[in-house]
Amino acid sequence: MSKHTSETTIAIAGAGLSGLCLAQSLLHAGFDVQVYERDEAPHARRQGYRITTDEHGIEALRRCLPPRLFELYLATASDTREGGHFRFFNQRMQEIFSLAFDGDPTGEDLTKPRQSDRQTLRALLLDGLEGRVHFGKVAARVETGSDGATLYFTDGTAVRADLVVGADGANSPLREQLLPDCAPKNTGMTAVYGCSQLVQDGDALVPAALADSGVLSVGAPGSAFFFTTMPFKESPAQAFGRLAPAQRPPVEDDYVMWAIIFPDTVFPSDQRLDSTALHGLALAASREFHPVLQRLVERADIECTLAVPLRASIKPAHWPPARVTLMGDAVHTMPPFGAHGGNTALRDAALLSEKIQAAVHAGASLESAVDAYQREMLAYSFKEVEASEKMMARFTTRNPIMRWGMMRVAPWIQSLRGKAVDLEAA
Ligand SMILES: Cc1cc2nc3c(=O)[nH]c(=O)nc-3n(C[C@H](O)[C@H](O)[C@H](O)COP(=O)(O)OP(=O)(O)OC[C@H]3O[C@@H](n4cnc5c(N)ncnc54)[C@H](O)[C@@H]3O)c2cc1C
Repeated sequence: MSKHTSETTIAIAGAGLSGLCLAQSLLHAGFDVQVYERDEAPHARRQGYRITTDEHGIEALRRCLPPRLFELYLATASDTREGGHFRFFNQRMQEIFSLAFDGDPTGEDLTKPRQSDRQTLRALLLDGLEGRVHFGKVAARVETGSDGATLYFTDGTAVRADLVVGADGANSPLREQLLPDCAPKNTGMTAVYGCSQLVQDGDALVPAALADSGVLSVGAPGSAFFFTTMPFKESPAQAFGRLAPAQRPPVEDDYVMWAIIFPDTVFPSDQRLDSTALHGLALAASREFHPVLQRLVERADIECTLAVPLRASIKPAHWPPARVTLMGDAVHTMPPFGAHGGNTALRDAALLSEKIQAAVHAGASLESAVDAYQREMLAYSFKEVEASEKMMARFTTRNPIMRWGMMRVAPWIQSLRGKAVDLEAA
């Protein structure tokens, strides 16, 4: 039997997307929730990248956030009224094919994907959790019993809770302890990410024809260049001032997020470089691509360059329910192809919150909530892991026949169908 809501204590390791989203939901449902974050402060690291929130992520945010914060999410995400494209190019920026996304004249259709700045999202997720998010606490391991679990930190301290949730990201020490056979496997690729302010010296860095697009340019075997813009619908300063004045919006200006995918032969995944060295590497690699892409790297904000080894989790074969569970990248890291990692993490948070609430209200055990959550979560999340691996393999293929088809034949077919994209117009 579980306790009443207000007597039930939940400890979450990791104040990232899923950890904070779960905390918001449980706090508003009346639970005693505490979050323990490794970083020393809310915006201690530059994490200047945008994520595409899709219908699952948006729905999870709608279910977990108080209406005021959901409104803030919509205000600071991109505008969906115009629609957009996903465009695939070869190295010389000849279009291989493109997907068009319809606009939504109402701007209110919550199934339409939106771009969202991750740091801005994190700032709004922190609102109202003051005093409940404890920074500088590095979770190390957990011990479970029949009536709760103890979360231990590297500083020698520990907390006891009815349920511990590991939302501590792709390198989760809790996953290592709980599911030692499921360490994410290397895909043989690393992405170096960067960001560049969209408007510089009065000019937009991205040609007008690509302003509404996510763009993937396929390079030499195993490499690719991706970019997309993060256009805020409302200025974050204005939107936060209106809806969450206690939070400082970490990013103000529209920017372009770019990424270069490197094979391990060029960038060994265990290599550790600082942002200046990573930027130098990206700059050299960008020379293989079209000048439009080179310019994005040349004009980057060097400080926000980061490297992420692309890994894919292994699905647990057996995971008995206990007073501890995992969410997000901690259990299902996936390559960024398809943009589902964060959305799946948010979906986990909404699902776990609802299972916990249902169990407590029915007087059922927290183990039953964890069991129901783990079964459902493993089914949808590993479909996404598999799909993202397949998509990555397709676009970074080294198979000469597949590459020939994709790089030579497809642009030719495209050229018969219509006009090439004009990259000159700014
Ligand atoms: C450049 C880039 C672009 C991406 N684009 C998209 C996209 O378009 N769409 C999408 O859906 N996903 C995207 N993703 C993936 C997405 O960001 C992740 O899947 C998502 O952040 C996972 O959420 P999470 O809560 O599991 O982990 P995170 O958001 O990574 O949070 C984990 C938190 O745990 C903390 N932590 C780590 N270890 C410990 C510890 N031992 N103790 C305490 N705290 C700890 C970390 O500091 C962090 O705050 C992108 C990722 C990158 C890098």
